[in-house]
Amino acid sequence: MTTYRSIFGPVRSSRLGLSLGLDLLGAPICSMDCLYCEVGKTRTLTRERRRWVRGETVLAELSAYSRENRAPEVVTLGGLGEPCLNLDMGMIIEGAKKIHPGLPVAVLTNATLLTDATVRAELMGADIVLPSLDSLVEDEFAAVNRPAAGITAAACARGIMEFRELFAGRIFLEVLLCKGLNDSQANLEMLADYVGRISPDRVDVVTLSRPGAYAEATAADTETLARFAGRLGAKPRAADRQIEAGRASKAETASSSPLTDEAFREIVLSSLRRRPQTPGQISDALGVDEERVRALLHRLESEGAVTCDDTFYALARD
Ligand code: SF4
Repeated sequence: MTTYRSIFGPVRSSRLGLSLGLDLLGAPICSMDCLYCEVGKTRTLTRERRRWVRGETVLAELSAYSRENRAPEVVTLGGLGEPCLNLDMGMIIEGAKKIHPGLPVAVLTNATLLTDATVRAELMGADIVLPSLDSLVEDEFAAVNRPAAGITAAACARGIMEFRELFAGRIFLEVLLCKGLNDSQANLEMLADYVGRISPDRVDVVTLSRPGAYAEATAADTETLARFAGRLGAKPRAADRQIEAGRASKAETASSSPLTDEAFREIVLSSLRRRPQTPGQISDALGVDEERVRALLHRLESEGAVTCDDTFYALARD
């Protein structure tokens, strides 16, 4: 039984469908330390590109995973930090496409390294790039995203723009709003102008759905989210979920190999390592009966491996 360290999920993503995640960092290593981060506080705040995890290691795990499990709908580079910080990112994108021919490769990025021409060239191999840009007001950007020294909102915006000019794939821009921090009218005006100039294939306006790394980050209210979404032409989540549910059922029909108990346990733990989830979300993502998910979660909870806050199950902290 393979133990996966660089693979998490698959999880049901509202933007991408059934997404198998690749972690290119191995620890919370990022060029930002966002107040709202679901991974937790950034342990290493850096702009330095390194082989934080070797590309060969990630691809060997992906090969093993693909032999033992059904195919996801998309392979997504993300994980515990900023994937563009890994010097092997280009090779990992290329390798993932060889292992899963025909499957799109997506990259979640905070856009801080898009000012680097080498990073932009590596990202050209992806099919979908999902940059986040939470505020174009520099003070707000600094307060919410807490970037490494020298990184500005204007530079991130310029990097996305330069990438947009050459990239043939799709760009899904995400704006995450925190109450009272980056939900200002000034930010909305600047983002609206920017979105009009880069025409992303999709815009998502979201807020926290669970506690972030720092208590200062709280969810924006529904009216604010609707105002930003309307102005930025963001897609309504409900419609996406329906489309993705249709895609999910196709993938589930195509699934042929039932999960062994051991593999199931490993995949659920790996998925919860990435983010807390409800039994329903896990069931949907894995195409496994919800009762079986609940039984496993209860067992893991009694062993002390996971915790539950009445709704979400999370990996127990050491
Ligand atoms: S950029 Fe992403 S991974 Fe990095 S701190 Fe922010 S939310 Fe977390």
